[in-house]
Amino acid sequence: MLACYLLVSVSSQRYSKNRTYIGFTLDPSRRIRQHNGEIIAGARRTSRHRPWEMVAVVHGFASKTQGLQFEWAWQNPEKCIPLKWQRDHPGAKQIPAKGRKTPSGCLQSLVALLSVPPWSHAPLTVTITAKRDDWSKWKIDKTVFPRHKQAEFSPVDELRAGPYDYRRGLMTIPKRGACRICSKRDFHRAETFCASCGVTVHLACLADSDEQRATFLPHWVQCPSCDESHHWSLFVRLCKALEEECD
Ligand SMILES: [Zn+2]
Ligand SMILES: [Zn+2]
Repeated sequence: MLACYLLVSVSSQRYSKNRTYIGFTLDPSRRIRQHNGEIIAGARRTSRHRPWEMVAVVHGFASKTQGLQFEWAWQNPEKCIPLKWQRDHPGAKQIPAKGRKTPSGCLQSLVALLSVPPWSHAPLTVTITAKRDDWSKWKIDKTVFPRHKQAEFSPVDELRAGPYDYRRGLMTIPKRGACRICSKRDFHRAETFCASCGVTVHLACLADSDEQRATFLPHWVQCPSCDESHHWSLFVRLCKALEEECD
């Protein structure tokens, strides 16, 4: 998994109140145990403000570089150029003027970042890993996340790599087969598959079945077999993966 995460200190020390930390990791559930000193290794900088709670995880980056770029942008939203461009745009998501490093400030910046390119075009998933009891404390509201981003809620130990994390080799690539939509086996046409159920479809058949395709915006497409929605760009990426597998 390639993930960026937000930690909030839950220490009773006054100097730790509202302390946050934004980082990047390949393994969020292991990383939080490192931050909390349950695993001895690294995370020395944050040890003063232990214990930490992992509040939100963003995952599904196409590469480590992309994940690290997002980490930097989330740490420095005031320097993020696409956010600057849209600052005067009415209705645009804004980063807070003050208190950017507070838990709710970091979450507000996250929502703003996900609404501008390149992040608005990436099939990222936001998982709120904070305990349900802590949501009001940190003003967590799932409705504020962009609607085309999947927002999930799960404890950090149960956080599993989503279908968008397939590059880490966590997803099984099926054999090429008949298209679920046109029922034909035509391997000369580009074929892709559903990341949830593995059913294979022609990319063109899927595009024809997609009601929103005329909008030209990155959006989520429903699988004709299991009804799970996946980002259009994921179907395109999986098309390449299927081709490589058959070579
Ligand atoms: Zn077809
Ligand atoms: Zn499916």
